[in-house]
Amino acid sequence: QTINFENYENIPVNIRGDNVPTPVNEFHDANLDDVIKMNVDKSGYIKPTPVQKHGIPSLLSGRDLMACAQTGSGKTAAFLLPIIQHIVTSGLRPYEEMNQQARRMKQFPFALILSPTRELAIQIHKEATKFSYCTNVMTAIFYGGKENYRDQLNKSRYGCHIVIATPGRLIDVVNQGYVSLEQCKFLVLDEADRMLDMGFEPQIRKIVSLGLPDKMARQTAMFSATFPNEIKKLAEDFLKPNFVHLAVGRIGS
Ligand code: ADP
Ligand code: MG
Repeated sequence: QTINFENYENIPVNIRGDNVPTPVNEFHDANLDDVIKMNVDKSGYIKPTPVQKHGIPSLLSGRDLMACAQTGSGKTAAFLLPIIQHIVTSGLRPYEEMNQQARRMKQFPFALILSPTRELAIQIHKEATKFSYCTNVMTAIFYGGKENYRDQLNKSRYGCHIVIATPGRLIDVVNQGYVSLEQCKFLVLDEADRMLDMGFEPQIRKIVSLGLPDKMARQTAMFSATFPNEIKKLAEDFLKPNFVHLAVGRIGS
């Protein structure tokens, strides 16, 4: 799979918000750790796509983000790179603490990424592993299906800074005490429109009430290919009032 549009330089971009951070035209110009930049290089990315150009500096500067862009426009790196950077500079917990947590079998991730499907969760997990190579950032994945549950829990025991999950399974691991969202400072809703289409709105609303810091005390990014009223409403409820709104290309409602 590759980027879905040629000449993405010429795609119209609409940005709304006060004091929106300056876009980066090269990954090199982004405020990312050298190790992370090296991982970006190694993955063959040469130039940031529009959603990355604008999204990365916004998220690095701590702003909330609503980004609408078509499939294949590079949304995954737009949120993963800032999250990994935040963890590398501030949220990376020492191994001792991680080991203690492992023994308690309870994880306190810094970031939670919600995905509508297991396939997408797996794909995000792969990218996260690639971009966090050599950083000590650890990622765990949770999705539905009886046969994977033990295995997922066992893998997460070694510690995790980032949790990637489908909504239902995430509620299970929180309710069963394996994961606490108390220290989660970064929430991503990937393919938010699809999550709503699949009927996940009640689960998503439940998750933000499961001990996750209040929206003013966390950073939130929402990604969607379309921008219907339901997404607008969710953005108003979940994002800080000064969020950056980014629309790449022509966005259907
Ligand atoms: P989206 O989430 O918007 O559908 P993805 O993040 O899955 O898009 O990216 C689509 C494909 O393009 C992936 O294979 C990804 O590795 C690749 N890609 C993303 N950004 C870049 C870039 N800046 N340069 C080259 N390839 C990229
Ligand atoms: Mg995507």
